[in-house]
Amino acid sequence: MKKTLFVTAISFLFVISSCNSPDKGIDPSFNQYVDLFIEEAAKHDVTFNYADVRGIQFGDLDGSIGGTCNFRNSDITIREDGWNNASDDYKTRVIFHELGHCFLDRRHLNSELPSGHCLSLMAGENMTCRNPYSIGSIWYDYYNDELFDDNTPIPDWYITEFDKPILETLIDTTATSTTLDLNVIGIDLNQNFEIRASFINWQYNDNLELSLGTQKLVISNSIIFLTSIYLLQDPILSATTTLRFVQYQGLDYFFVDDKIFHIDNLDLDFSNLSISTKKNIGQAADIGMQFQLNLLGD
Ligand SMILES: [Zn+2]
Repeated sequence: MKKTLFVTAISFLFVISSCNSPDKGIDPSFNQYVDLFIEEAAKHDVTFNYADVRGIQFGDLDGSIGGTCNFRNSDITIREDGWNNASDDYKTRVIFHELGHCFLDRRHLNSELPSGHCLSLMAGENMTCRNPYSIGSIWYDYYNDELFDDNTPIPDWYITEFDKPILETLIDTTATSTTLDLNVIGIDLNQNFEIRASFINWQYNDNLELSLGTQKLVISNSIIFLTSIYLLQDPILSATTTLRFVQYQGLDYFFVDDKIFHIDNLDLDFSNLSISTKKNIGQAADIGMQFQLNLLGD
């Protein structure tokens, strides 16, 4: 029985390899992402050459799998369907993840941080964590550090509790929507500050939107997203929900009811800030919000 299975496995592999064999090597479509990997490897004192994997080629993959690594022969297959329309962030993540398997010999690691972010770029099958991997972001650096060294500690900027003293309250008002230019207010954008908004007259499914220049944060009962980054967490809104945006030491922290759900370095435009509540259709009462702008200490 064992022998039969072995023979079947061999012939299956033979079929696979005879399909792919004329094209071994790295398809030029992947060069720019492999070059980024070489760059990141060098930063971590690791040398990677194109010849260090047998191949990176397009292929058909089951389900929604983006790529696979064959550990036995370091052959990487990338899903062709959808590749052209994917973002550079996604493409980089997929190539780095597969090279993590095939070159760095990493296995899947689905652990998550308290905010729901993945601990590692090596999160894979059945993962439930979120992976905000974007080139140039603080997460890009962290995930690459962790990829090359799985003993990498959680970075200092990753904080789950934020309890800095309020030095001064610049605005404390009630409104249904507010538009602000923080430069006009005279706030030094290099200092630590926070924006807090709480609902008044909240009803189920009401939304809160915070626009910071080109970035827009929307939270409702079933979704949280920040422009193109989908930040789903448990349905969380209620009559007492407070949204809190904190700029601390140059980084951007987003909290809902003091639970952190995103950290980033977004390079936000604070000259065009607006915050508004959005009614569930058919409601008569204005929702309104309590809005605060506070300067924070260290
Ligand atoms: Zn994987």
